[in-house]
Amino acid sequence: MVSLLQARALNYAYGGEIPALDRMDLDLQAGELLALLGPNGSGKSTMIKMLSGLLRPDAGEVLLAGKDIRSHHPRERARQVAVVPQVLDALPGQRVGDFVMGGRYAHMGFWRSADGQDRAAVASALDRADVGDLADRLLSELSGGQRQRVLVARAFAQEAEILLCDEPTASLDPEHQLMVLELLRAVVDAGMGVVLVSHDFNLISQFSDRVLLMDAGRAVAQGSVAEILRAEVLSQVYGSRLLFAEIPAEGSAVSPMVLPWRWSK
Ligand code: ADP
Ligand code: MG
Repeated sequence: MVSLLQARALNYAYGGEIPALDRMDLDLQAGELLALLGPNGSGKSTMIKMLSGLLRPDAGEVLLAGKDIRSHHPRERARQVAVVPQVLDALPGQRVGDFVMGGRYAHMGFWRSADGQDRAAVASALDRADVGDLADRLLSELSGGQRQRVLVARAFAQEAEILLCDEPTASLDPEHQLMVLELLRAVVDAGMGVVLVSHDFNLISQFSDRVLLMDAGRAVAQGSVAEILRAEVLSQVYGSRLLFAEIPAEGSAVSPMVLPWRWSK
């Protein structure tokens, strides 16, 4: 197994007393879709920012290709790690096509403009994220779900070997949820490593190789879908208002299904 990205004993506090990350470890292998699960405020987005080198830990380290991620040049880092952020902070008055071309930064260098290879990568990324017809639209005029798919397209255009996705399906309709997860699964099967933050137990159940459950900045459990998506494990973190079922999968296998459930009024 090839380890793509390793986080070791990360501590981080944004300034207050309570740490956002507390001795957090994570290991991402090539050819693996790792789901990062946990309640609101448990530190998932902070972890994504650490893994992309955007934030510097107070203690601990993130290793990319065996080397501290922040010691790589930003362009070199961007060639290896692409991020689908939870939100697009500023909405630039930019067209979708130009924004996605921004994902090519790592490959272009400021001394030259986009070439045929860049344009082909952008066209392919727009197509795969099903936003090809939006290329000339302004980002600010898109629906939440359309914008989310544009963020996915930009990350794909980057052609990195590691993809960090922070709730990439949160605003998507069911068909586009499956489409994005199928895209992620395909690149993982081709050897990439993907970290997927999601609250969707059922997409995680169907698509991920391993699940890491966070709570209060810590990893509280880690294992296969069958090991983590169980009442004994999830109730520690989410409480008891969950319904568990099993859906027949291929052969004699079953996939866990988990739903928020209002047991009594
Ligand atoms: P999650 O993505 O799991 O919902 P976050 O990583 O966004 O959680 O947040 C973890 C903790 O850090 C929360 O308590 C949150 O309030 C805090 N936090 C996140 N971003 C900031 C920030 N920019 N400034 C101060 N506190 C923050
Ligand atoms: Mg978050």
